[in-house]
Amino acid sequence: MSNLLEIKNLRTTFSTMQGKADAIRGVDLQVKENEILGIVGESGSGKSVTMKSVMGLLPRSAKVTADALIYKGEDLTKKKEKELRSFRGREMAMIFQDPMTALNPLRTIGYHLTEVICRYRKVSKKEAEAIAIEMLRQVGIPSPEERMKQYPHEFSGGMRQRVIISMALCCEPSLLIADEPTTALDVTIQAQILDLLKQLKQDRGMSVVLISHDMGVMANMCDRIAVMYGGVLVEEGKVDEIFYQPKHPYTKDLLRSIPRPEVTRGARLQAIDGAPPTLHNMPKGCPFATRCQYATEKCFEIMPETRVFSDTQNAKCHLLTGKEE
Ligand code: SF4
Repeated sequence: MSNLLEIKNLRTTFSTMQGKADAIRGVDLQVKENEILGIVGESGSGKSVTMKSVMGLLPRSAKVTADALIYKGEDLTKKKEKELRSFRGREMAMIFQDPMTALNPLRTIGYHLTEVICRYRKVSKKEAEAIAIEMLRQVGIPSPEERMKQYPHEFSGGMRQRVIISMALCCEPSLLIADEPTTALDVTIQAQILDLLKQLKQDRGMSVVLISHDMGVMANMCDRIAVMYGGVLVEEGKVDEIFYQPKHPYTKDLLRSIPRPEVTRGARLQAIDGAPPTLHNMPKGCPFATRCQYATEKCFEIMPETRVFSDTQNAKCHLLTGKEE
């Protein structure tokens, strides 16, 4: 599979009252055509900031640099801001955790959809309405003609998330970034939305980047997984490599901390000791050093190199002896 998006040495720094904070520290990542790539990690690991940096959705206090951001063969770092805005709107779309915050409670669902369609596609209002109805139908909203006239509060949480997905699809993007799209939903609706994303990937040949902290969701949904910690991509591989042959100590700890139904009643859940470092007290070297049971002095001082284990799996840890990248 060829690359749809290739991120090379992405760095994002925020200016804060306490000084500069490096949120993303040199991420290299590829999204292949027609795949679901999962980005997993704890809160604050940089998974959302990575994709928001690519989308240009961060506040002005963020400084984003990259050696290259190659999308369909074009380097986005060479484009002007205005060009980028319309390019991103058409080619990439992002959906978020809480669908209610993305919808204006004073506007109808039809207004939300037709506004996006008219902004990015050269169509009349009537054509935009027809496209909007078709989009709602495709994401499984019954009686879409009627639903177009209703307001967000008349929709359930799952239905609102479907509306957001249909808005994202209005411009027929090649890349959909879903940032914890089911965290605010109950389990049955969660399964429906995840099935819908899989279906859309299959029907439209779209690539999906799924951001989540839920390893169960990742196992079910993804072709490949990237594990992030402290603004660094610490391991990536195919889903089976990550689940059955994890290399990085953090990936192993994450997998150990998944609750298992077969565990005896009353047994303690395994957790990773300590808390992730804040952006202002990040070790110079490996970000996991403050919690890693194998950490040495070198780990705190020197960022580990990437070690390669297969065509698809690599990890960053001083302990590992795979090939150098
Ligand atoms: Fe642990 Fe050191 Fe490996 Fe980081 S580099 S994961 S601290 S052993």
